[in-house]
Amino acid sequence: MSDCIFCKIVAGVIPNTTVFEDDQVLAFRDIDPKAETHILVIPKQHIVNLASVQAHEWPLVQQVLQSIKRIAEQENLAGYRVITNNGEQGGQEVFHMHWHILAGKNLPGF
Ligand code: AMP
Ligand code: ZN
Repeated sequence: MSDCIFCKIVAGVIPNTTVFEDDQVLAFRDIDPKAETHILVIPKQHIVNLASVQAHEWPLVQQVLQSIKRIAEQENLAGYRVITNNGEQGGQEVFHMHWHILAGKNLPGF
């Protein structure tokens, strides 16, 4: 298996707190939450980040974004922020594309 930590989560080798799953998408709670609600949404397929998405993979990105909307509804989030870090200089630490959903009181402003 690849060394990717999120691929290992998808494979069930590393445990996670799943909040949503379908055939192509998995969402789970961030192990080190930066907000009251902090959920990570990933494609089950290994894609490095948004910058590396290939033409045929855009439907998968769409499915990830649709999942974010569903999760926000499921979790009754009044408002939320979505972030995907791209590349080391963009703050990316895990190189399997993931979208952070952040919600709750006192989200820092930009
Ligand atoms: P990024 O800096 O955008 O690459 O974010 C990586 C995120 O993955 C961080 O917020 C980490 O807290 C989170 N993370 C790392 N390992 C795990 C894990 N095993 N389960 C859940 N979240 C994790
Ligand atoms: Zn991976």
